[in-house]
Amino acid sequence: MNPAEIRLRARFVVGPDAVHTDATLVIRQGRVATLRPPEPGDTDLGEVALAPGLINAHSHAFQRALRGRTEHLRAARPDEDFWSWRELMYRTANALDPDDVEAVSRMAFLEMALGGVTTVGEFHYLHHAPDGTPYADANELAHRVIRAARAVGLRVALLRVLYHRAGPDRPAEPLQRRFVDPDVDTALGRVEALAEAWRDDAAVSVGLAPHSVRAVPRAWLEAVARAAGERVVHLHACEQRAELAQCAAEHGLSPVALIDACGLLGPRTTLVHATHLDGDALARVERARPTVAACPGTERNLGDGFLPAAALLARRVPVALGSDGQADIDLFNEMRLVEYHERLRAERRNVLAASHGAWWPAPADGRLEVADLLWPMATAHGARSLGLPVGALTPGAPADLIALDLRHPRLAATTARTLRADLAFSAAPDCVRATWVAGRPVIVDGRHPAGDATIDAFLRVMRRLDA
Ligand SMILES: [Zn+2]
Repeated sequence: MNPAEIRLRARFVVGPDAVHTDATLVIRQGRVATLRPPEPGDTDLGEVALAPGLINAHSHAFQRALRGRTEHLRAARPDEDFWSWRELMYRTANALDPDDVEAVSRMAFLEMALGGVTTVGEFHYLHHAPDGTPYADANELAHRVIRAARAVGLRVALLRVLYHRAGPDRPAEPLQRRFVDPDVDTALGRVEALAEAWRDDAAVSVGLAPHSVRAVPRAWLEAVARAAGERVVHLHACEQRAELAQCAAEHGLSPVALIDACGLLGPRTTLVHATHLDGDALARVERARPTVAACPGTERNLGDGFLPAAALLARRVPVALGSDGQADIDLFNEMRLVEYHERLRAERRNVLAASHGAWWPAPADGRLEVADLLWPMATAHGARSLGLPVGALTPGAPADLIALDLRHPRLAATTARTLRADLAFSAAPDCVRATWVAGRPVIVDGRHPAGDATIDAFLRVMRRLDA
């Protein structure tokens, strides 16, 4: 059912310009039509706030299967770090058949939907059978992941990963065979075939994702730059210090400088993580203005390091957010972590507001709300990262939105003035009462119609993996 016109009246509506009190959002043919004062006959949602749906710009859905299973020290590995975590992740990645990938992905996407996510950027690198043999359709697993997102009702940007090697002069390791394409032309051909297969679904888009400067040679980055056209390009960049040393040894450049030299640093590119940027890299991102996709929840789980958020905001670099490793799927929390990590480092408060520089117009009342910087990270900047016209309730935009329960204990007594701060600093996934994607209901009264079936299918996979 997609009725031609839906009129949703709410206590507050987070519009593109301001928070409106007692307003009605009109949706026509799945798109935002207008925001106006209430009229008789509108559907009154009562004490809720309507806001743009949250955008999860960086996800590896299958990593939901790792949750709770890597948070222990093994006697044989007393020095656990990102790289030892990665071994465990590879073992899980290699234990999943196509049905498992679909079931686990669906679980991750269900949790995202329940928590207010309406669009996911899925950085997808599981392609082939565990021995590296392509499936009959080389895009089988990408199709499965897209199908999982669409079954839940999410809009999905499938960021199809290109992967070739373990590192400089090191062929892929046995546990990386599922990720690897033989050459860049084959990989790019598979991306085009994937996009073609989903051309008729307006809620599916396909981007290019050279995995990292460690996993692809320079010639692949240059080929992606030539082939990208209108497609967005995502890369893991500067996540671990070891990668910086490796990149310097191979290319004599930092990862960001290499990406720039290959013609890949621009507004349609997203640098995922960017936790270790030197002065030269900061200058390059200030000039080229890629999006940085931060995943502070995962970055602290993996011990990656701090996002230089204040430095990025001072240079007007858009920051988007992702749930990445899925240890925790909570975009509200990701928002506040960006500010909180900077507070812990600076031993001050409201750090991002102080770092805004000259570019943020001074508000008439002299208050610089930190949430006004955090909220776009979970919405408009995620949309920019994925190249999609979502992230704000602007007339003509797809009607991707969420309704937040203002009687929830976390949000009770919010006002038009405090709403965005309450959402950024205090809200949690269970404040979400309802969501819509392109005007279609996904979450209704805090529940998903296929929630139980999705959890049952996921449990069957996990009981087998854990056995
Ligand atoms: Zn990632």
